[in-house]
Amino acid sequence: MKITILGSSHGDATPTRNNSAILVELATGTYLFEAGEPVCASLIRRSFDFGSLRAVFVSHLHGDHAGGLPVLLKGFLKYRKPHWHCAVHLPEAEAIPALEGWMKALHLPVVPEVLSFAPVVPGTFFDDGQFRVTALPTRHFGRNSAIPSYGYLFEAEGKRVLFTGDLSGDFHDFPALPPDVASVDLCLSEATHAPLEAIVAAIPQASIRRLVLTHIGPRWDGGQEHQLLAAFASHPFPTAVADDGDEFFV
Ligand SMILES: [Zn+2]
Ligand SMILES: [Zn+2]
Repeated sequence: MKITILGSSHGDATPTRNNSAILVELATGTYLFEAGEPVCASLIRRSFDFGSLRAVFVSHLHGDHAGGLPVLLKGFLKYRKPHWHCAVHLPEAEAIPALEGWMKALHLPVVPEVLSFAPVVPGTFFDDGQFRVTALPTRHFGRNSAIPSYGYLFEAEGKRVLFTGDLSGDFHDFPALPPDVASVDLCLSEATHAPLEAIVAAIPQASIRRLVLTHIGPRWDGGQEHQLLAAFASHPFPTAVADDGDEFFV
């Protein structure tokens, strides 16, 4: 599976980083995690085949993770193959009629046979026979908040990837793997919301084979990435700080 970081920034875009979006490509189809701006433009600039897009998963409803959805879906509606279907999974059910309403206002036809929307539920909620996604609840909106947020475990081609989404201010909610999953081939972790010591302490050493840090905030952006890498230098897995356009093969 090929993973491309389309957007590696924290809450705001920067001169060199777009908002969150991660493209996963299999031989049989493509999948997106997050739809931060300018995801549609990023895909067009990569000559993306919108007809291959099978599903979109959003970790939580902050603008830097979902703000590009209407234009992304316009791209899908315009360039998809006939009879192709894309499933959009949002963490809050209330957002679905709101998004459908905004698309209607933009004169974008939402036909369920072409584009369907469904809320994310904890546990394994998506499996199309090639790609399996498990939602792992997190506490990005606060320990006592009822607003849902998720990390995702996704599996394909015999490989596993953990994507944390955005976490809490102390990383106490770093997603635990399901009991039957001993390790992941790659962990895509955010690196913005907690102090560096908390980030390092929360990321487990035993169950991760490779670490890519993304959702890069101003602490690390613009030449300070080496501080992040130095903190993981003695860990038993290779670590990278993502830049926009980076590709990882799992
Ligand atoms: Zn964010
Ligand atoms: Zn957020």
